[in-house]
Amino acid sequence: MKIGFIGLGNMGAAMAHNLLKAGHEVAVWNRSAAKAAHLITAGAVLSPTPKACAVGRELVITMLADDASVDAVVGGDDGLLEGLASSAMHVSMSTIAVATAQRLAAAHLAHGQRFICAPVFGRPEAAAAAKLFIVAAGPDADIRAAKPVFEAMGQRIFAVGVTPSAAALVKLCGNFMILAAVEALGEAMTLADKGGVPKAQLLEVLTGTLFDAPIYRTYGAVVVEDRFTPAGFVAPLGLKDMRLVGQSAESLRVPMPLLNVLRDHLLQTIAVEGDNVDWSAIALTTAKNAGMGR
Ligand code: NAP
Repeated sequence: MKIGFIGLGNMGAAMAHNLLKAGHEVAVWNRSAAKAAHLITAGAVLSPTPKACAVGRELVITMLADDASVDAVVGGDDGLLEGLASSAMHVSMSTIAVATAQRLAAAHLAHGQRFICAPVFGRPEAAAAAKLFIVAAGPDADIRAAKPVFEAMGQRIFAVGVTPSAAALVKLCGNFMILAAVEALGEAMTLADKGGVPKAQLLEVLTGTLFDAPIYRTYGAVVVEDRFTPAGFVAPLGLKDMRLVGQSAESLRVPMPLLNVLRDHLLQTIAVEGDNVDWSAIALTTAKNAGMGR
């Protein structure tokens, strides 16, 4: 398939690479063009603008940092909306606000273009291994058309309805739960560590008994090894996600007291550790608050 890929960060670069490996024809665009170099070597074509990246493509994926970057790439004279043919499809895979997904759906509809939302679960290592979990929402026929593309990047696809923004909401629920799990892990590990039980030993017991889940295994190893840099998912993007969860919670009138704790803890972590740590460094904050940690 002729695919455009916009956004070659930690996630996007690995995803675009897997599309090339699966035999798709891929045009790429990234704000910092240098990040496209290894993909060009692997057979991708570099586009000068998001618009050019969409011209002649059946499907264009965006994998960008946040709502503002998606808006910057979709709109304007050089934007995706101007380049995408009518009946061609934009697949938004970034984690974005429900309201942004609704706005994008309306804009593409007005241009006679198709739009689905398909955010992902999985860190850059999962993206590189084509093991992402992809949560897609949009018209059935459009999700079917995108399936071969998803299969080149992910291990499982969940279709969660015909309204694209539903996928954005599912992704935000998931990220809220990931950070809640990391917070619980960080607190338990600090307690054990300060009481003289090595963190690795606690993790072995947890994952060998009632907590044998990818989330505890993946983040448990990060916390045991204090592997908060280089970041797989930078803390400011995690803070963005907690803000988006909060926006949905407010508009739907859902009190989420735990969300506020997580948001504050992440903010404290960024204030002290800087912008370049992984969002799981909230566990480091917990440890430091207890007089432990680096
Ligand atoms: P990242 O490494 O920070 O990459 C962000 C991308 O967005 C880069 O290509 C960056 O371009 C681009 N960008 C930022 N601001 C822009 C702007 N104003 N205009 C145009 N492009 C802009 O982020 P990531 O980790 O790949 O995450 C991408 C998305 O996936 C996010 O929505 C994130 O929440 C979600 N996600 C991440 C993970 C993870 O573990 N990392 C997992 C699941 C979902 P430059 O290269 O020029 O900076």
